[in-house]
Amino acid sequence: MLKRYLLAPGPTPVPAEALLAMAMPIIHHRSPDFLPVLDAAKKGLQWLYQTKNDVLIICSTGTGGMVGSVNNFFSPGDKALVINGGNFGERWTKICKAYGLAAEEIKVEWGYAVKPEDVEKALKKDLSIKGVFVQASETSTGVYHDIKALASIVKKYEDTILVVDAISALVAHDLKMDEWGIDVMIGGSQKGLMLPPGLAFVGVSEKAWRFADKAECPKFYFNFKKEREALYKNQTSFTSPVTLIIGLNECLKLLQQEGLENAFRRHERLAAATRAAVDAIGLEMFSKESPSNAVTAISAPAGMDGQEIYKNLRVKYGITAAGGQGQAKGKIFRIAHLGYTDTFDVIIAIAGVEMVLKGMGYPVKLGTGVAVAQEMLLEGYWRKDEGSC
Ligand SMILES: *Cc1c(COP(=O)(O)O)cnc(C)c1O
Repeated sequence: MLKRYLLAPGPTPVPAEALLAMAMPIIHHRSPDFLPVLDAAKKGLQWLYQTKNDVLIICSTGTGGMVGSVNNFFSPGDKALVINGGNFGERWTKICKAYGLAAEEIKVEWGYAVKPEDVEKALKKDLSIKGVFVQASETSTGVYHDIKALASIVKKYEDTILVVDAISALVAHDLKMDEWGIDVMIGGSQKGLMLPPGLAFVGVSEKAWRFADKAECPKFYFNFKKEREALYKNQTSFTSPVTLIIGLNECLKLLQQEGLENAFRRHERLAAATRAAVDAIGLEMFSKESPSNAVTAISAPAGMDGQEIYKNLRVKYGITAAGGQGQAKGKIFRIAHLGYTDTFDVIIAIAGVEMVLKGMGYPVKLGTGVAVAQEMLLEGYWRKDEGSC
C-alpha cells in the first residue's frame, strides 16, 4: 500500500465535511429544496469575492469561466491586451483568438511578474483596447501579478475592463474585487475552494455588465446575462451541479469559520516556509519575483530532470505534486500549498523532496529543509512576526 498525498495546484484535497455532505442523495435542482442551497452559495461567494456584485456559478472547469468571460463581454474584432507570463496567460490569447478578438500580448519572461507601468503605457498608446486579461497567480510559473496595481490603472479607462483569472489565487491571495475595481474575476472549484473539479465562478462588476449589453460574440451555454437572471431566482440556467454546490457551501462554511484574513495568512505562511526550506536545500526558485501563495515553482538542480523529481515523488512516496508545463517542462517541479492544507503538508512535501533528491544523487543532508520549515511554522514565530507576513 502506498498512502497518497495530493499536493498539486489543483485538484486539491477535499475536507471530510464536504465529502460527507456530497454523499447525500441528489436533490432536484428545480425543487424548493435547492433554492436555499443556491442562495447560501451565492451569498458565500460574494463574501469570498469581497463584492456586492453578482458572482455567477457555472457548471464547467475554470477554463469555461475564462471562455465565458471572453464571449460575454466582447465582440469579434475587439482589441484585447493579454498579459502572457506563462501557460495560462497563453490560454487567454488562444481563447480571445478563438472568438475573433484582436489579441495583443505583453510578453513577460516566465518566472517574472508584469510591470504595471507596461500595461499603463500600452493602454495610453491604444485607447481602443477593450479588455486587459491577466492571471492573479500564474500557476505554471508560481508568480503573482500585482492585481491591485493593474486594477488602479484599468479603472481610469471608461472603455476598458480588467479580466482576472483568479482560479488558483482565490483563497490564497487577498483580492478585493470591489475596493480595487476588478471587473471580472474567475475562480474554480478544485483549487483554493477545496472541492472536486466541475465549478467555475465569475464575479462581474456593473461596468462589465454594460460591456455585456454590447457584446456580439456568439454564445449559448455560457450566457452570463441568462445566468444572472437565473441566479436572482436562486437557480442556474441548466441543470445545477447540485452535489458540488452542496459541497461548496460546506467549504465556504469552513472558510468563514477560519476567517478570510486568516485563510490568506495561512497561505502566506505555508508559502514562505516552503520557499525558505527550498532555499536551505540549496535549490533555486523558478519564480524570480512576486512568488505566489498558492504554489511554489522550483528549478530542478543542474543536470536533473524536473519531471523525474515529480515522478519519483509520486511513485516512491505517494506525493502528487506537479511538474512543469510548456517551456518549463523538465526544468522545474512545483509544490502546492493551496486549499485544505496546513503545516504538515509542507513538512511532507519538503521531506519528500529531500528524499527524492538524495535518491537521485543530489547532495542534501536529510532534514535540512524540514528543520527550516519547522522553525518558520512554529506557532510562536508567526505570532511574533504577524505584522510582517
Ligand atoms: C487550473 C487553472 C486554470 C484552468 O482550470 P481548469 O479547471 O483546468 O479549466 C486556469 N487558470 C489558472 C491560473 C489555473 O491555475
